[in-house]
Amino acid sequence: MLILEQLARWAETDRVAIRYGDDAMTFAQLDARSDAFAAWLLRTFGDDRTPVLLYGHKELALPACMFGALKAGRAYVPVDTTFPPERVARILEQVQPKLVVNLSGTALQAPTVLDGPALEAVLQQSGTVERRCWVRPDDVAYMLFTSGSTGNPKGVQITAGNIAAFLAGVEPWFRLEGDGGVFLNEISYSFDVSVCPLYYGLSHGMTLWTADKELLGDTKALFRSLAQSALTMWVSTPSLGEICLQSPQFCRELLPQVQKFVFCGEVMTRRLGEQMLARFPGARIYNAYGPTETTVLVTAVEITEELCCDRAALPIGYGFSNLECRILDPETHQPLPDGQAGELAIVGSCVSPGYFRQPEQTARVFFTDEQGRRGYRTGDLCSRKDGVIDYFGRLDGQVKLNGFRVELEDVECNLLKVDNIARAAVLPVLVDGTVQGLTAFVMLQQPDGLSSLQRAKGIKQALSELVPSYMVPRKIRCVDSFPLNANGKIDKKALGAMI
Ligand code: AMP
Repeated sequence: MLILEQLARWAETDRVAIRYGDDAMTFAQLDARSDAFAAWLLRTFGDDRTPVLLYGHKELALPACMFGALKAGRAYVPVDTTFPPERVARILEQVQPKLVVNLSGTALQAPTVLDGPALEAVLQQSGTVERRCWVRPDDVAYMLFTSGSTGNPKGVQITAGNIAAFLAGVEPWFRLEGDGGVFLNEISYSFDVSVCPLYYGLSHGMTLWTADKELLGDTKALFRSLAQSALTMWVSTPSLGEICLQSPQFCRELLPQVQKFVFCGEVMTRRLGEQMLARFPGARIYNAYGPTETTVLVTAVEITEELCCDRAALPIGYGFSNLECRILDPETHQPLPDGQAGELAIVGSCVSPGYFRQPEQTARVFFTDEQGRRGYRTGDLCSRKDGVIDYFGRLDGQVKLNGFRVELEDVECNLLKVDNIARAAVLPVLVDGTVQGLTAFVMLQQPDGLSSLQRAKGIKQALSELVPSYMVPRKIRCVDSFPLNANGKIDKKALGAMI
């Protein structure tokens, strides 16, 4: 596997692989520690290749565990600490891991648990692992749990071959001038944008410059730190770009070495493109698109002044050269002619084998084409003209909130688990076409005698124990009954008018 080979290659230099605050890990340390973890996994679990669950945030030890798992032929499942224990318990139920690396400080049940000190002792050991133990192209390398419409998170399986396809597809878009460089590492490891620094950055011998959620929440400290970062490559959601742009400090002088900004994961507005071009002369700005199921990114386009002038909304761009983008009729799944809007499907070796132990959900959106190639229907409404793909929104109840993927039905299902809630509907709050928050409408089983403020507080508290904090609606409104549409379902349009 390329990344594992490259770790060994860069380990022979004195390059730094990851910086996190005042701490750093060289490639030599990362390579040795992942070897130690792999050797320990093989010694402890033998042939049992159950995925390893990694519960933490941005700790330096996590990438060593990820690459160690791969060296021992196992998949890893990164789960960020923004996932509350109840949600993690659902993931544990599905994965049934033998080993959980738990850096969260919250107790978790698994046959073997390594907390921080126990993990450190393992990583300090010496050990080597033969290449024949490494994951192979068809083996699952990682699994990411995303919001699922049933209220249960679903695990997207990504193989080593999928990652190889991603790296090949993204190469012409990510390539930088010069050797080495510094790659922004700010996305939680449980979201696949983090695969960009981890796999692209590290395999090119770049240093990952890490920002955790605390630093990201304190713009002044973030900018102080960024000024020292020598960053050359920025990959983030547009949301982080928008937050940073609120400060005039976010400009060339802050990041004099930056060569490229790649925004991905949610709609990039034209305004963001225009402002970035104005603030960072000489840097190249891109909008890139891709679902977790097709391994991070599958289309991209460079944002130029002409492109901003020409179009009301920025396109998601051109499909990578090693895959095929198809626009299909959402009902019949037949290809549509150029210019007509339909569901975007991706076909190629970047497409996941499917959701972990969810054959029905897998069969609903994944397919194998006439030539035996794997395909995925994205649920995104798009059209293509002259090779350029435009994005018009979702065909279902999935939204992106500050870059996080949320199925509205997931929030609804979990609201129904809260005491005294009989029915619930969740709607996105849209400002200028982008989702700024969620509003939940709930109908109670019986009157609770609480003020709306007290009730909303209680519901939010109960919900935050079930779903990640970004899925908790900002507003909770109580209704006596729901407006219904002709087929007896909650009429979300009518509810929307009440926001
Ligand atoms: P995720 O699997 O979390 O990366 O979410 C994938 C979904 O995010 C896609 O199916 C789109 O709906 C949305 N998305 C990702 N990138 C973009 C983009 N550049 N523009 C618009 N929507 C995007």
